[in-house]
Amino acid sequence: MELDNLYQEIILEHYKHPRNHGAVTNADVIINGKNPFCGDEIVLSLKVKDNIVTEVAFEGHGCAISQASASVMTEQIKGKSLQEAKQLFEQFTKMVKGEGDVDTENMDELAAFQGVCDYPTRVKCALLSWNALKKALEGNQK
Ligand code: ZN
Repeated sequence: MELDNLYQEIILEHYKHPRNHGAVTNADVIINGKNPFCGDEIVLSLKVKDNIVTEVAFEGHGCAISQASASVMTEQIKGKSLQEAKQLFEQFTKMVKGEGDVDTENMDELAAFQGVCDYPTRVKCALLSWNALKKALEGNQK
């Protein structure tokens, strides 16, 4: 796929050197995500304290988009409130689905995935970790 070079570099860099890779010890939530269309798998674990995502990690395998997306996501949501994480989920989903203009100003490296909307088969890859996060957040709200 032909993404903007800078964006491609960010994605490959995260794919080769994933951040927050592994599992959180004594996690509050563990979510399994699978994308059968591409063979991507991910296990997301996180700890939430006082409404803040204090720790988050992922393990998995699959294509560069799916794994890099998980890596960037964990970096971006760590330390954020559940509400902020949910907002990022909504922004990111809208962006990769190409549903209208999204303000990427607060999105940092997440913006690297905006080219994905031109590749419908890749949208599921980019959203795998985010959909797992959404389930985790919903599960955590009592
Ligand atoms: Zn994939």
